[in-house]
Amino acid sequence: QPMAEKAANNSSNKAKESPIVSTRAGIPQRQAIALISDHADPAADIGKEEAGGQNVYVRQVGEALAKLGWQVDMFTRKTSPDQPTIVQHSDHCRTIRLVAGAEKFIPRDELFQYMPEFVEAFQKFQTKEGTNYPLIHTNYWLSAWAGLQLQASNNIQLVHTYHSLGAVKYPSVKKIPAIASTRLEIEQQILEKAHCVVATSPQEQEYLRQLVSQQGRIEVIPCGTDIDKFHIISKTEARIKLGLNPTDQIVLYVGRFDPRKGIETMVRACAASKAKTSGNLKLVIAGGSDPEREDGQEKERIQQLVQELDLADQTIFPGQLSHDVLPLYYAAADVCVVPSHYEPFGLVAIEAMACGTPVIASNVGGLKFTVVPEETGLLVPPQDINAWAAAIDRILTNELWARKLRVEASARVRQNFSWTGVAIQLSDLYRRLLAQSMMDERVWSLWMPTSSEASNTTQVLNAL
Ligand code: UDP
Repeated sequence: QPMAEKAANNSSNKAKESPIVSTRAGIPQRQAIALISDHADPAADIGKEEAGGQNVYVRQVGEALAKLGWQVDMFTRKTSPDQPTIVQHSDHCRTIRLVAGAEKFIPRDELFQYMPEFVEAFQKFQTKEGTNYPLIHTNYWLSAWAGLQLQASNNIQLVHTYHSLGAVKYPSVKKIPAIASTRLEIEQQILEKAHCVVATSPQEQEYLRQLVSQQGRIEVIPCGTDIDKFHIISKTEARIKLGLNPTDQIVLYVGRFDPRKGIETMVRACAASKAKTSGNLKLVIAGGSDPEREDGQEKERIQQLVQELDLADQTIFPGQLSHDVLPLYYAAADVCVVPSHYEPFGLVAIEAMACGTPVIASNVGGLKFTVVPEETGLLVPPQDINAWAAAIDRILTNELWARKLRVEASARVRQNFSWTGVAIQLSDLYRRLLAQSMMDERVWSLWMPTSSEASNTTQVLNAL
């Protein structure tokens, strides 16, 4: 084949097969990667039912990875016809909403049937953009299923983060959904077939090995927090800004209204605490809800409990709070509580600690990794009301110790849990996987070289 013709062929292959996209002329070409987060929209309002830690994780990781030089495309399901299909977060990071099933909210336990449509829409998007993502990072088991389908028909590197594990969740819920056995199966398959599973804490890694499979590669990379936003602010200043009383003893909960979050334990513990009788106790229960949905019912149940336990005058429900105002609430609190029955990681704990607020958390899952008992807060058995009441009283009555906890808590997060640090670790993992796959492809091409493989390999290796 003449040189000129070969070059022309190579360049047309490049246009058709290149995984490298540049969104703006003049900006150097970047390696494109896809993050898939089926139900948890990275561009959504956080803090409501089905919008919590996973949304924050995907969005923050995506944005931080883009700052490190990747083109990051984050795929989720469109839940309303009014939503824009593409949300551009920064030059190289965007959310892409795919149509799979009706364009309305569908609870995640009912989403599996729409995942084939999701995969088809993803593939159509790739064809339309003329790109093939060489690395896909899936989040939650539904996305894992999509990743496994894509892996079967494309040469991709597949990375997965669970966010929640059926094997841990189901034994503790009253009503096991019909989809449970499918979920457990996919959760095992993804561990065994993905190129790497990211556990967000050593505790999660242990669970994966004990409850899911002995096979498959796992790396521990934690979740993070935005340490520029969540940092120490003076308690007095924060309370003035929020109109909260300087002498109150403030116990703060932040999160979704879900029975498994253990809000009931915290309310009962506050009612049983010595702080209640002192008259200065203030309970702040923050989080969004929709009266039509399950989180609305749980909020109503908690509000009734607050009435019954004679805490209504001492409790406020500020509703859903944005990350712009949340640092003030954390800073204003004397203690932040995370009473979850189970928590794979628990972003709220590190957000509060970053703001210098001691944390009392259940001694479960990722909370055992983030909260250092006696140094950044306390760990207490979930649902043990007396132990929770004692822990709350201990922190509220020992100002000197609480001040020490504040300093340690914030230092621990800055050192270990910034999104930038997390993204650097993920980026390093992606590079290793892509380089490995390129090397494998090179070895393969020694046996069976094609011009497109050769050009693809060189291109991606250059971009790494
Ligand atoms: N959140 C928020 N506003 C609220 C309540 C919660 O922004 O009113 C955020 C919170 O700051 C955290 C996330 O929702 O970033 C909850 O994550 P976590 O891992 O603690 O719990 P999950 O919702 O994943 O179970």
